[in-house]
Amino acid sequence: MKKILIATNNQGKLKEIKDILKNYEIVTLKDINQEIEIEEDQETFEGNSKKKAKETSKITNMPCIADDSGLCIEAFDGWPGVHTARFLGENATQEEKTQAILKKMENLEGEQRNAKFVTVAVYYENGKYVIAKGETKGKIAKQPRGTNGFGFDPIFELENGKTYAELSVEEKNAVSHRKKALENLEKALKNL
Ligand code: IMP
Repeated sequence: MKKILIATNNQGKLKEIKDILKNYEIVTLKDINQEIEIEEDQETFEGNSKKKAKETSKITNMPCIADDSGLCIEAFDGWPGVHTARFLGENATQEEKTQAILKKMENLEGEQRNAKFVTVAVYYENGKYVIAKGETKGKIAKQPRGTNGFGFDPIFELENGKTYAELSVEEKNAVSHRKKALENLEKALKNL
């Protein structure tokens, strides 16, 4: 089974990635005792993912997958998008970020609350990139609901009315932006 290093320290994401890329031996930074933090300073999801995958692969000498995701709100032209993790600065808590979005949207109703989650996943090995994208459409809920998942899951409401945080891991993986990106990546890797 081919070994691939996943360039993330986010445990929530790792669990999802392992569930989806079952045909590979997924190695984490922790597994190889590496603490690599690549700065996400590019202006696109693709730019950040490519940078993380390449730099991590160069340091570790392993094929590497990195992903970058974000929440894109239609009423704000896709904001916070690539800035989703840091739009309130480096030190804000998840609760503060969630509340900031709810406050900014308090007067918006119905379709004005449309949003999507986007992931760009990139595989890098020996100078070659494989790039794949996944998107899931939904709405920003009026209030957080549900206790599963991570990040903005409690305020991201799917077309069936449930938030990501009201889904089990399996249910989220059946519809998530990350799953779609990783599935597209897996297909593309078969042709590598
Ligand atoms: P990144 O992909 O780790 O850079 O994520 C960017 C931001 O989007 C972070 O604030 C994450 O918490 C958030 N995020 C990424 N994926 C998800 C998800 O599946 N659910 C909820 N929040 C997410």
